[in-house]
Parts: sequence; structure tokens; C-alpha cells
Amino acid sequence: MSTTIAYAELVGLLEKIFLRHGTDRVVASILAENCAMCERDGAYSHGIFRMPGYVASLNTGWVDGRATPEVEDVAPSFCRVDARNGFAQAALARGRDLAISKSRQAGISVLAIRNSHHLSALWPDIEPFAREGLIAISAVNSFACTVPFDGKSAVFGTNPFAFAAPVENSEPMVFDLATSAMANGDVQIAARKGHTLPPDSGVDGDGKPTNDPRAVLDGGALLTFGGYKGSSISMMVELLGAALTGGHFSFEFDWSGHQGAQTPHTGQLIILIDPSYGAGEAFDRRAHGLITAMQAAGVSRLPGQRRAEIRAQTAQNGIPITEEDLASLRTLAIA
Ligand code: NDP
Repeated sequence: MSTTIAYAELVGLLEKIFLRHGTDRVVASILAENCAMCERDGAYSHGIFRMPGYVASLNTGWVDGRATPEVEDVAPSFCRVDARNGFAQAALARGRDLAISKSRQAGISVLAIRNSHHLSALWPDIEPFAREGLIAISAVNSFACTVPFDGKSAVFGTNPFAFAAPVENSEPMVFDLATSAMANGDVQIAARKGHTLPPDSGVDGDGKPTNDPRAVLDGGALLTFGGYKGSSISMMVELLGAALTGGHFSFEFDWSGHQGAQTPHTGQLIILIDPSYGAGEAFDRRAHGLITAMQAAGVSRLPGQRRAEIRAQTAQNGIPITEEDLASLRTLAIA
């Protein structure tokens, strides 16, 4: 049976779960907002479905929900954050203001987060920058579950890459995509629902193509999207998210002693560009012109449009949730 929950109520419930399982108030608030936003916008692979994974990561001591991130101002356009084995979003919150002021002064800034865990979508991290007039790019690597093109075993994570930019008189333009054929969360959801995967999504434990999500999860692996092209982008995400930040590569960490933990211990890179330093007309006006041209060419769905539409619906009608899921969340908040 399905019901609905108001956004604020969902945030409050998720906050209780995070607090109950050992985060401090700041982290609980940041993660609860993040997870509720995903559910609110129909980004289900990173919504409430992830809560047991967060809890397992916290309960097994894999992640420190009370870590105090340390911000280092290392160059006029470069800051680093050591998340101290905490969540990347809390580290981003700490380094955010410095990164913004550097991008305004230098035209560009890099925020390199290491020693961090990220189990969510990237758009909640970068969309707010575009609302402040900045272009934002982010890369996060994850855990080895994706085979590089022409390879035989998983090296890369599902490695999302996201971009956000301001658009005149419009919502920011945001795309946010896994560089694997699909997000691991969607494979888990398909397995739970008994669905098959689209062709060319993954391989089984013998390296043979399969559309069975269980075979992918149980010893198999995902493929990158777009063959060698997606594989190169995924490799770039490893280099930016891990090699540049000082985080682990997706194949480098061992969480086998933390049964059920789901938060990859890696890094996150954010690049901010102040478009007012660019030549020519204002960027956001040009962005509007491009989108208008795309729509004139027949494009009916822009990246982020589905989320924006679901956000508008849920603002009016509440966030749909099954009674079963709601009961599970309430149990997690006290168990
Ligand atoms: P999708 O393939 O569903 O969507 C990718 C992007 O393309 C979105 O911006 C989406 O917009 C847009 N899009 C989708 N379909 C169309 C279309 N027909 N026309 C135009 N635009 C379209 O996302 P993924 O499954 O690749 O990734 C899902 C999420 O998983 C991402 O948010 C990603 O950050 C997250 N992730 C996180 C990881 C982590 O370790 N933290 C690892 C891997 C993934 P819209 O949102 O409006 O549908």
C-alpha cells in the first residue's frame, strides 16, 4: 500500500536514523536533506533505498559519522579537504565557501576531497553552485564493480560525472550520470523487483554478457556506457576523483571486514568556474540560447527535466512512499 510523506517530515525521519546510528547533528542534517532530496526528485537509486547501506556503514565503523573535515587552503585556486573518513557531503559543506570565493577571485577553483565516503547522487552537490551563477563539475569514483573496455575484471567503479550551469530565466542545466551502463543502485532495485537489465549492461562471474541483475551483483560486473568512450571517461573519473584528490581508487580499498557497508571510501573532485570571466555575452544568456535551439530541433526532454517535474509534483502532493518502506525507516530510527 502506498501513502505520501511531506519533504520536511521525511528529512526529520532520516535525521533521526542518522543520529540513532552515530552521526553528529551536522552530518545527520546534511545527509538527511541529501537523501530526502533524491527521493523527492525521483532519483530513487540514491533515495531512501540507500538508508540500510548508510546504517551498515556507520554501524560497522567503516565510516565516521562524527568526523570533522579539515580544509587546507593550498593555492589561489586550489583547496583540499581531508574528510577524515567521514562523508564527502560534510567535507564539501566545510570547503564550500572557500571554493566559491576562490572561483570568484581566480575565475576557477578546485575543491579536492579525499578520505571520504559518497553514497549519493552528485546533482545535490553541484546544483546549488549553478544557482549562485557558477559552472560546477564533479567526479566521484566508487568501488570496483565495472570492467574497463577490453578488460576481464572490474577495476572501475560506477564513477558518476556531473555538470551544472546557470541558465537565464530558467532552472540550472544539470546532468549527472554514472559512467557504467547503469548505476549499481538501479541493478539492486532491478534484482529486488525481479526485472531484467537492458542489453550490454553487465557480465556474469564468467565474464559472459547477462541481463540478470543477480548475476551482475553476485560475482559479475557492470560494463561502461558507450564502450571504449565511456571507459575513457570512467578512467578520467578515477584519476580526478582519486589520483588527484588523494582518495582511494575504486579497486584500492578493502571493506570485507565491514559486513554490509555500502559507502565507497574514495574521493570527490569539484571544479567551479565563474563564467563572468569568459569572453563574449553573459554565459547564462548563451546557455538559454543553446537550450532554445535544442528545443527548436525537437528535443522534448532535457537532462534534469524529469527530476524538476517530479519535484514540482511532490511539492504539491507529497513524496510517494510504501507503508512498508515507511515502517522500515521508522524501525531504523529506533532500532
Ligand atoms: P540516468 O541514466 O538515469 O540519467 C543520467 C542523466 O541523463 C540525468 O541527468 C538525466 O536527467 C539525464 N537523462 C536521462 N534520460 C534522458 C533523456 N531521455 N533525455 C535527456 N536526458 C536524460 O542516470 P544514471 O543511472 O547514470 O545515474 C543515476 C545517479 O546515480 C546519478 O545521480 C549519479 O550521480 C548516481 N551515482 C552515484 C554513485 C556514487 O558512487 N555516489 C555511483 C554511480 C551513480 P534526469 O535526472 O532528469 O532523469
